[in-house]
Amino acid sequence: MEEDFYDEGGVVCPKCMGDRTVDCYCGGDLCFCENYGERDCPVCHGEGEVSEAREETYFESQRRMHAAFQSAMRQSDEKIDD
Ligand SMILES: [Zn+2]
Ligand SMILES: [Zn+2]
Repeated sequence: MEEDFYDEGGVVCPKCMGDRTVDCYCGGDLCFCENYGERDCPVCHGEGEVSEAREETYFESQRRMHAAFQSAMRQSDEKIDD
């Protein structure tokens, strides 16, 4: 029987690239994060790794956000052209 170590953890988190933290967006003196300037990565929750399924969900939501942004840009372009 093979040992399935790779079932746990899986792949390096695509959000923080394994750093486990991401830059916060509170900004300087107003930062209310524990680590001032960094916060636990919201994708891997500070694990640095995610399952392949979680990675796929992340990329899927990135694609959707990108597509929504593109279509919003197109719509505003059309309004300007009118
Ligand atoms: Zn912050
Ligand atoms: Zn992460």
